Amino acid sequence: MSYTILDLEWDSAYLPAKDRYINQILQIGAVKLNNNFKVIDTFERTVRPSVGDKVSDRFVKLTGITRDDLAAGVPLSTAVLEYNAWLDEDTVTMTWSKSDLYTVMDNEKTLIKGIKFNIEYYVDLQSYIQSEMRLMGHEVKSQIALSDAAEKLGIKTDGLELHTAKDDSLVCAALLKKYFNKKRFFEMVEDTSQNNFFKRLAFKPEFIDDINSKYINKQDLSFNCNKCGNTAEQKEPWKYRNRWFFSSFYCKNCNREFAARISFKKGYDTITVKRKVFEKKKQQAGGKNGEEK
Ligand SMILES: [Zn+2]
Repeated sequence: MSYTILDLEWDSAYLPAKDRYINQILQIGAVKLNNNFKVIDTFERTVRPSVGDKVSDRFVKLTGITRDDLAAGVPLSTAVLEYNAWLDEDTVTMTWSKSDLYTVMDNEKTLIKGIKFNIEYYVDLQSYIQSEMRLMGHEVKSQIALSDAAEKLGIKTDGLELHTAKDDSLVCAALLKKYFNKKRFFEMVEDTSQNNFFKRLAFKPEFIDDINSKYINKQDLSFNCNKCGNTAEQKEPWKYRNRWFFSSFYCKNCNREFAARISFKKGYDTITVKRKVFEKKKQQAGGKNGEEK
């Protein structure tokens, strides 16, 4: 088994045919590591833009890739095929956060139909390093920047140009080498041919806004009194507002009303239910039954 760290540079470009923006891949960089995490090969291809008539100043400034470099680049399809040919078989591919994967999927679907990056086994290196940092007692926000992780962990980046695909990959390699734990690492390896890995990734969770949806388990809609635990009686139909269904309930035992809310978030093959019981708002002078205007 070998390891590949993949890093992409991209720029947002307007796609008239779809009336939306796409993060167009403009450079593919990668390093290949042996079992001792020594860099044994590097890959870099600059891609000639196919969308939009110019790249942003921000991209040029951040990456140091000039417009001349881009004009001399290869088509994205060529760069991907060359990358695939460069890869070893049976390699674990890593990227710093899954955002590269979203970009990969969108570029494959939109710009190079039928050609795919070969990513067989995958680890989100950002998520792995973050969890190692937490185990070491570092306070880590989610989505830590590569440069911040390197600095916190004392990885030298002198002489490297961060935000160029190859140098970012070298920093990733140094982080991995220093913080590799075989057991924990391999627990995070995902086989992308299993469990609809890419479909699952592309799926956008949604909040269910129809109380009669087949995805709602009717049992979730009953509430017990939060004081005595008895089954409470629902007093009004569910009302949907901003991701939540609201209603009020009455407990005979305590002779009191209380309010409840519930939300259903639908993932690729999951429904996440959140429920909350709370006191009804105090009746205001002249107000009716706790209703607010
Ligand atoms: Zn009660």
